[in-house]
Amino acid sequence: MLEQITQWIEHTNNEFTPQRQSCYQLMDNFTDFYPTAFLDNAYFVVIDTLPKPDFPELRQLGLGTFIDMDAAGITYNNTYYLQPHVATNLRVHFHELVHVAQWQHLGIAQFIARYMQEIQSVGYMDAPLEKMAYALDNHFSLDGAPFDVPRYVAQHL
Ligand SMILES: [Zn+2]
Repeated sequence: MLEQITQWIEHTNNEFTPQRQSCYQLMDNFTDFYPTAFLDNAYFVVIDTLPKPDFPELRQLGLGTFIDMDAAGITYNNTYYLQPHVATNLRVHFHELVHVAQWQHLGIAQFIARYMQEIQSVGYMDAPLEKMAYALDNHFSLDGAPFDVPRYVAQHL
């Protein structure tokens, strides 16, 4: 299952490579939160319908609600997908970049395994990987003092 999802993610990110935009353009908005080199290796795609791995096996594992959730954005490794209505919402970008940092620190297979386990056991809203992202995007939205987010993520996972 992990292998199948990993392949789907690689395929999906490859498919959207021509449309993706570099997060480098967010540099001025996220000064001292995200290092330039980190932003330079992260991407986003604006798209009406977010791509999701809709495998029957995932629904059998109880992840149907998550798959069907009308999320504004979703992150796969170093690329996140956003619905047009949040394309310029910095807080949403900030949130998805936390996930990019989580994927980077954990590695693809471990991120997927952990995220699935969290959703299955406590649900989306209480999933620790999500709570970390929401807490950090909240800090940013309140004009909180900047700190190195990828480093924070690495120290708190
Ligand atoms: Zn999230």
